[in-house]
Amino acid sequence: MRTFDRNYIDGAFVPVTGEEFVDIVDPATEGVVGRARLASRDDARRAVEAAMRAQPAFGHASVAERIGMLERLQAAMLAQADALLEATITEYGGPVARAQWVADYAAQCFGDAARALSSYAFERTVGGSIVVMAPVGVSALFAPWNSTAGTMASKLAAAIAAGCATVIKPSELSPWQAHVVARAIHASGLPPGVVNIVTGLGADVGAEIGTHPGVAKLSFTGSTPTGKLIARGAVDTMKRVSLALTGKSASLLLEDADLDAALPLALGAAFMNSGQACVAGTRLLVPRVRMSEVLDRLRSAVAALRVGDPRDPSTAIGPMVSRAQYERVQHFIRRGLDQGATLISGGEGRPDGLDRGWFVRPTVFAAVRNDMDIAREEIFGPVLSVLPVDSEDEAIAVANDSPYGLQAYVFSTDAARARRAALRLQAGTVLINRVAPDLLAPFGGVKQSGMGREFGVMGMEAFLEPKTITAA
Ligand code: NAD
Repeated sequence: MRTFDRNYIDGAFVPVTGEEFVDIVDPATEGVVGRARLASRDDARRAVEAAMRAQPAFGHASVAERIGMLERLQAAMLAQADALLEATITEYGGPVARAQWVADYAAQCFGDAARALSSYAFERTVGGSIVVMAPVGVSALFAPWNSTAGTMASKLAAAIAAGCATVIKPSELSPWQAHVVARAIHASGLPPGVVNIVTGLGADVGAEIGTHPGVAKLSFTGSTPTGKLIARGAVDTMKRVSLALTGKSASLLLEDADLDAALPLALGAAFMNSGQACVAGTRLLVPRVRMSEVLDRLRSAVAALRVGDPRDPSTAIGPMVSRAQYERVQHFIRRGLDQGATLISGGEGRPDGLDRGWFVRPTVFAAVRNDMDIAREEIFGPVLSVLPVDSEDEAIAVANDSPYGLQAYVFSTDAARARRAALRLQAGTVLINRVAPDLLAPFGGVKQSGMGREFGVMGMEAFLEPKTITAA
């Protein structure tokens, strides 16, 4: 049994003062593997105050100093890769390949930010003035449970590159993963107060940080309803806000697509991170003329997917993070059936042979209409909706008929046609014939999937503000 009862504030691990504990449950076994003490509002205020003390000096750290810090962070994250792998598997249920990707990515973020920083022009001449890109100030970084270390690292890397001291609020479901990241940060020897981490509930600790007058910038990743709360709370002190929110991505399979190549990718897009991914391509739009061969192939591909022990390297889909998430997925599978979608694979309940753990059956529905709940709402589990379309125009219209627009996918053998479709899709990112993201290019959503961009130079610019100096 592990106990997590320390915040990371002002360069030291200090006792959490909150009175409440939460159990850490291994979602693959439902066994309690640890517990965490939840931070209090006092802890949150202490963390913000430490960042406020650090900001004036850190805001003037040279580019070379900040690159040095990012390089140390990258090395320190790499040194924690095994510990992070273990935490991601045990606390979250991430299959080993995914957990390994997360560990590599968390380190890589710092290297990418150092590269973006090294060639960035912080000072330019505009008109007759000098424009200096200045750090926005103390920044609060909020991370969701489905991507704890990756979100903490990518936001922190951008904030450090820009010269912003930070307070990080990871999800209350991820104290172990957050603690491993905190250990790496501590080992990298940053000046005290530049990074502070408090693990507590969103409604009190998150709200305290998100409305604190000493915080200048909020960078939030999570659900759209919480993002709206955060944005409303930010307005009184006019905090700058970046929101990375809910997705309900469409995958367009164009008529000329090579199914051998496209369908494994489309299925990978739908079920990545056990389906608990904001960028999951959960609406597959298929030309009616190709529907029966697509469904036949999907049926056999899904049957071949291994669901189970996240430690087994052959596992494609691990458990859902919690009982609540398991129940949410069951609810949507029932809604799909009730609203008349056709079940192709999976369905309600656990997969055969798994009677413990929050495992769900990877599920594919066909004959889905875009007004059904399973097509409109983010399920956050391995549930794919296949929608028939009669033309490319209809595919674009259906894809865009969503309140969300995070990441879309296009599969086609005609590069020019795929690019034309990509330009018409309402999404922050469109991936063509691939599911791997480009981590140097801007990432973020349109419509209710968020505002602002992360990664690379634009991710750093989200923590900078232009200051104009005009002399007589
Ligand atoms: P969530 O919105 O419930 O919580 C996200 C974070 O905000 C957590 O740390 C939570 O404790 C905190 N929080 C909650 N209420 C708060 C408040 N009032 N003030 C401040 N902080 C508060 O999201 P979740 O369930 O942890 O994560 C899943 C969601 O995140 C999904 O909707 C998914 O699509 C989204 N997500 C988006 C992206 C993206 O890049 N767009 C990436 C990953 C996850």
